[in-house]
Amino acid sequence: MKNLIYGGIIVLCLVISGIVILVTRSGGSGGIDELSDDAQTWVFCVGCKASYEMGEKEFYTQLKQKSVELANPMARAYLTCQKCGKDRVVTAIKCGKCGEVFPEGVVPGDLADRCPKCKFSATEEKRKARLAQQSQN
Ligand SMILES: [Zn+2]
Ligand SMILES: [Zn+2]
Repeated sequence: MKNLIYGGIIVLCLVISGIVILVTRSGGSGGIDELSDDAQTWVFCVGCKASYEMGEKEFYTQLKQKSVELANPMARAYLTCQKCGKDRVVTAIKCGKCGEVFPEGVVPGDLADRCPKCKFSATEEKRKARLAQQSQN
């Protein structure tokens, strides 16, 4: 029983330190304020499958607010959809090849920016380019 309690305390400590890291990274000393007002980000509604662009700053401001409202660091915060009004909006990626907009990490166990349609991934392309450069030297 004692072990169980200790285990619980350790897990709790890990969770708390994780939250602290997240908070200091995303918020803290003006993380959002440093974002450009002009930067746009793609979002995707997993409820009605709508995708649209919105200001990056606006996105993170709303996301932060939603996280606060949730009051549960383990739960994923969703933004409110401009189309259907439900809290189902997540970060999306626009495929650099075929232009498909899809939720980040839609292909399980693969790169977060893997396109479900044409299988293109900008991260993978960058890695390939880097490898090709290394082999040239
Ligand atoms: Zn929607
Ligand atoms: Zn694609």
